[in-house]
Amino acid sequence: MSASEIRVVEGGKCVKVHVKVGDMVEKDQVIAATEADKDTREYKAPAAGKITEVGVEEGKFVKLGQLVAAIAEVKPMKETEIRVVEGGKCTKIAVNVGDQVEEGQVIVATEADKDTREYKAPVSGVITAIGCEVGKFVRLGQVLAVIASESGAEEAAPEPAAAEPVKESEELRVIEGGKCTKIAVKVGDRVKKDQVLVATEADKDTREYKSPIDGVVTEIGVEEGKFVRLGQLIVKIEKAEEKEPVRHELRVIEGGKAVKVVAEPGMEVHKGDVLVATEADKDTREYKAPADGVVTSVGVKAGEFVKLGQLLVALEEKEIAAADEGKHAQLLIIGGGPGGYVAAIYAAKKGLKVTLVEKENLGGTCLNVGCIPTKALIRSAEVNHLVQEAGIFGIDVQGAVKPDMNRIIARKDDVVRRLVGGVESLMKSNQVTVIRGTASFVSDTEVMIHDKDGSEYTMGFDDVIIATGSRISRINFPGIDLPFVLNSTTALANRSLPEKITIIGGGVIGLEFAFLYRDLGAEVTVVEFLDRLIAMVDTDISEYVRRMGEEKGIRFELSARVTELKNSDAGKAVTVFEKGGETKEIESDAVLVAIGREPNMEGLDIDKAAVELNDRGRGIKVDMCMRTNKPHIYAIGDVNNIIQLAHAASHQGMIAVDAILGDEHPFRREEVPSVIFTSPEVATVGLGEDDLRKQGRSFKTGRFDYVGNGKALTMNETKGFIKLMKDENDVIVGGAIVGADASSLIETVNAAVVNHLKDTDLQKMIFAHPTTGEVIHEAAMDLGIGHLHL
Ligand code: NAD
Repeated sequence: MSASEIRVVEGGKCVKVHVKVGDMVEKDQVIAATEADKDTREYKAPAAGKITEVGVEEGKFVKLGQLVAAIAEVKPMKETEIRVVEGGKCTKIAVNVGDQVEEGQVIVATEADKDTREYKAPVSGVITAIGCEVGKFVRLGQVLAVIASESGAEEAAPEPAAAEPVKESEELRVIEGGKCTKIAVKVGDRVKKDQVLVATEADKDTREYKSPIDGVVTEIGVEEGKFVRLGQLIVKIEKAEEKEPVRHELRVIEGGKAVKVVAEPGMEVHKGDVLVATEADKDTREYKAPADGVVTSVGVKAGEFVKLGQLLVALEEKEIAAADEGKHAQLLIIGGGPGGYVAAIYAAKKGLKVTLVEKENLGGTCLNVGCIPTKALIRSAEVNHLVQEAGIFGIDVQGAVKPDMNRIIARKDDVVRRLVGGVESLMKSNQVTVIRGTASFVSDTEVMIHDKDGSEYTMGFDDVIIATGSRISRINFPGIDLPFVLNSTTALANRSLPEKITIIGGGVIGLEFAFLYRDLGAEVTVVEFLDRLIAMVDTDISEYVRRMGEEKGIRFELSARVTELKNSDAGKAVTVFEKGGETKEIESDAVLVAIGREPNMEGLDIDKAAVELNDRGRGIKVDMCMRTNKPHIYAIGDVNNIIQLAHAASHQGMIAVDAILGDEHPFRREEVPSVIFTSPEVATVGLGEDDLRKQGRSFKTGRFDYVGNGKALTMNETKGFIKLMKDENDVIVGGAIVGADASSLIETVNAAVVNHLKDTDLQKMIFAHPTTGEVIHEAAMDLGIGHLHL
């Protein structure tokens, strides 16, 4: 080792000193800078080495010839690997990373067929990595240890100073090439000896790199998801004295009831985060984190009464990274529809750190192009219909009543905007990190994020919930791409009311649009492939809806298969269909295709996570807790194809979050209510009569017609009926309502089904008068001694 000195070549003022004694420097690295007459002069290292002396001070004047720094040159280090020459079991590791070893010294021993093999140091040097573990098997070629030695100096006796270096830092280096799968620390983190810092994978074997000392991470040389090569720097750790952490306690300053307890032991919190809220005399008091740190204990549970001075939360100060779009998510949610965004809020309220990725607007299909906008349009159509009938209520309306599609669509857009804005604020208030972009799996532990601003990066996760919803099914008959063809999304933005419209599909979407367009004054024909409408409800309900539609003037072509769409000579839309062996045609101004939706897995690259799909690839296969074949990957809502309803998706999201937190409870399909917003509305829950017959169960049905309900008569809404089904044990197992307020009344029937109430429970319940809800009481009475009012 030789030394060199850098000396001042022009007097002036020292403006920067970049090094301190003991620092290793590269050739040409800037050591210090001086200034004279506003000219800056940089002093660079003439060779790589270690700083042994610094002769200048920042801010002080320097004179010609003065020592800037002295550097002891260090020859570049050469790394020598000791590799397995015969597979076997590692029985001994005689050294630690950082140890100085002599040539010939035993480093590792292995055993194969009872023969012991010793691996000795081929050179003197310092152990920089160990690639085996005692008791674990090693295979041919595997690196057992790496020794760093000065090149060409193998035989030379080390200088006394270098023989026992005072190590201020440690470097972990890659001992087997592969892929970095996890980085558990970031620069600045304090780490403990043996703490796992990084994991890599090669040939499906995971290798963990642990900290050799207590210290602070000063450099990270690998990236999650990227390949690493032998010898590459993984992490550099500087030795650091353990400081006594600063502790804080939050104690009750006014007795009351704990209404919110967010803090949990081990939870990382930021200064200002609300940890507990109490209520006294209707006043809420929030207890916030006084500093960034980790919760060490919590002395209260939500709902408990607390008294003055009681310990609520104890906290240890610690640097916590700002909640950011970090490269690792505790819970990652893909999709911000009613499945994903509700799961995000629920998980955040339960203390998880949530990152949600959404490529379009928050709210998904439901808020943007589904449930909400259709209901806004349906309300306009109802108002149009009601005003047309104003005379029945004794109200004179002067002049023509006609819908203004521009204003109807604008109102719908406003409703959507307000709700989407509401979801955005909910994400903020619940500290959910929202990433605008798409996520595609690269493995079962990470996704690639394609940010809307064009950046791409990988993100790992502890758990992920896939909530990517569904998309409109496409059907491929001739003419499907003609300009007059609408679907459930484009119809919502259509600002011209067609005089005549043909709707293909007599399912939920087809019928909601059929009644909506009819109530706005259009001539409507529905063409349905099956012999009845809305096939998922009981036959009597679908029959009733057909009659209601026909009374309004809607035409239905059942058992009709559409084969082609084309333009007539006059430029009209022609729908060609086969029915009863004949080919028929209907002419209209527009055609709306509503033949179903299918799970949306586009761009997810789900195969890369090796997640199993349902039969014929129709959605992601999950168990009743929404877990896929990968225990940390969940799928909720339309994408799992159990049932395509927004409220089912939200509920499944909560089930998935509970399962992640260890509270498993199954999704019960039979407890999902369903509403179809025709006029009047249809609502069902539990088992239908058709289901019960199919199951061969004995049951009894209680019915009541709306015509016997006082409130319905006042509303001029006397069409419709309710039916309740009870099983052989008198337990209510299902119900269906077609009539006014059905969408709200079904919740009461659902409460009976979910809680296994008997008909007698409903008979004894007091229903407010006059309300449409009394039809439930009457149907329950019909299951016993009979109606009171018919
Ligand atoms: P759907 O499955 O309810 O109905 C599609 C209908 O189209 C079926 O009756 C089918 O027989 C018919 N069909 C298919 N191909 C045809 C063809 N070539 N010619 C004629 N008819 C054909 O699907 P949808 O109405 O598009 O609704 C999609 C999903 O969205 C459903 O699961 C529904 O529950 C859900 N949704 C629910 C609501 C609500 O709850 N209010 C509202 C809208 C949508």
